[in-house]
Amino acid sequence: MKIFCIGRNYIDHAKELQNPVPTLPLVFMKPASALLKNNAPFYHPDFSNDIHYELELVLKVGKNGKHISPAFAEQYIKEIAVGVDMTARDLQSELKKKGHPWEIAKGFDNSAIISEFRTYESSKNWHFSFHKNGSSVQEGQSKDMIFSFTDIICHLSKYFSLQQGDLIYTGTPAGVGPIKIGDRFEAFLEDEKLLDFFIK
Ligand code: ZN
Repeated sequence: MKIFCIGRNYIDHAKELQNPVPTLPLVFMKPASALLKNNAPFYHPDFSNDIHYELELVLKVGKNGKHISPAFAEQYIKEIAVGVDMTARDLQSELKKKGHPWEIAKGFDNSAIISEFRTYESSKNWHFSFHKNGSSVQEGQSKDMIFSFTDIICHLSKYFSLQQGDLIYTGTPAGVGPIKIGDRFEAFLEDEKLLDFFIK
């Protein structure tokens, strides 16, 4: 099982980090050991002083494919969830400055928080939102993505065989920010609460 992630897929988030808006999807990956399920607490690691949350829509691939064309792309999506791409922003900034890969800042243990999945419905505008200690911090909808689910599936499948069960974190809207021990986070897909966890 592979975990793909798309960076800078919402214009307002690219701007808040002073990153250029990409012309092709920006792809990175996390290992399977990054997954954190079942609303388990996230234990703050000691190698970073600036871990940021990024709430994202997450797709689950339903069948194997390669070189997928736009007309068929959505047929490869089986389910959808919300997930948090935990990011060690201090480590990432250092690595970006040196032009080095991001893996340790993005792929560390438990950095890919995932909710339960719901059945995917094609052509739907998916709304999602994130609450920190009871206040809304992020809100997004899939129609605001720079690269649509179809664009992402087509692009990824040029380079990688998509396999049943692979996950795709599709990027975060504006409002990312730091976590601290004791914070409670709740995430909603449409109006349904799918994540509720604490930072420990
Ligand atoms: Zn992200």
